[in-house]
Amino acid sequence: MSAKIISGKDVAAQIREELRAEVMDLTSKYNVKPGLVTILVGEDPASQSYVSGKQKTAKELGFFSIQDTQSADISEDMLLSLIDKYNHDPKIHGILVQLPLPKHINENKVLYAIDPDKDVDGFHPVNVGKLMIGEGRYFPCTPFGIQQLLIRSGVKTEGSEVVVVGRSNIVGKPISMILVQKAAGANATVTMCHTKTKDIKSHTLRADILIVAAGRPKAVTADMVKEGAVVIDVGVNRIGMTPEGKAKLVGDVDFDAVKEKASLITPVPGGVGPMTITMLMYNTVKAAKFAAGLEK
Ligand code: NAP
Repeated sequence: MSAKIISGKDVAAQIREELRAEVMDLTSKYNVKPGLVTILVGEDPASQSYVSGKQKTAKELGFFSIQDTQSADISEDMLLSLIDKYNHDPKIHGILVQLPLPKHINENKVLYAIDPDKDVDGFHPVNVGKLMIGEGRYFPCTPFGIQQLLIRSGVKTEGSEVVVVGRSNIVGKPISMILVQKAAGANATVTMCHTKTKDIKSHTLRADILIVAAGRPKAVTADMVKEGAVVIDVGVNRIGMTPEGKAKLVGDVDFDAVKEKASLITPVPGGVGPMTITMLMYNTVKAAKFAAGLEK
């Protein structure tokens, strides 16, 4: 049996369509236009491309959006003042600081300066803590996207054994925390694995839903997967770089072999990746509704 492919591209397009309609409604009925600022420090090409993708999507959805680019030698104090300005700007509901920042700037100090109400990335300790106690307003975008992929593919999480490979603050821990909540689209029994886990295979083989965010090609091979499991591959690895700078994009899962055992699987590219920007837009619409008193 070959697994059915979960297309993140299709699910993301569906959510964006819903958001576009919601933004039109908010603008026409309540004069509320979701506002997003993306702050880019320096000229790193990868960061430029991520930020322009976010700006393009925000514009397509009818947001008010600002791209604020600062030179790489901006002082930490100047950057903190800039964030303070956007914290107090009523047209801005979401603030995104593109990482990484130059070495002379303390990233955490900058991220923690963002008003938690405008922290649409969901990385502020206030939002991380709220997620932990089941009062989360903004879930971090990649794990939130994974939950949406599961829900919209009809995967039952309640009572399922979920095994997460990886325990980073941006993927492994938050997706574990989201899926263990006493809530719809969650209620799972979650195990988190990492490089110090003993006999990782004994855990992954139990998984009804296996989520892999290790950052290593073939971290999960077919012998580690239960027949009929749902496999979500978060990894993005560039392999076989040519002298011209071209590389193949692969995930963390040995896709060709694992798809013969899984019931559902996400591809790389086209799986989790397209969901991340979409959930950033979702969080920004939510922030705008919250600021307008339309949502608690
Ligand atoms: P990370 O910070 O490097 O964390 C990797 C985690 O995986 C660590 O907890 C590590 O364990 C664990 N790990 C690594 N190799 C392992 C192995 N062989 N067995 C068990 N555990 C292992 O990475 P991340 O930021 O979470 O990202 C993970 C992957 O997802 C990367 O490829 C990244 O590019 C991708 N990603 C994609 C998106 C997207 O939008 N599609 C977003 C974010 C990340 P230790 O803690 O013990 O070191």
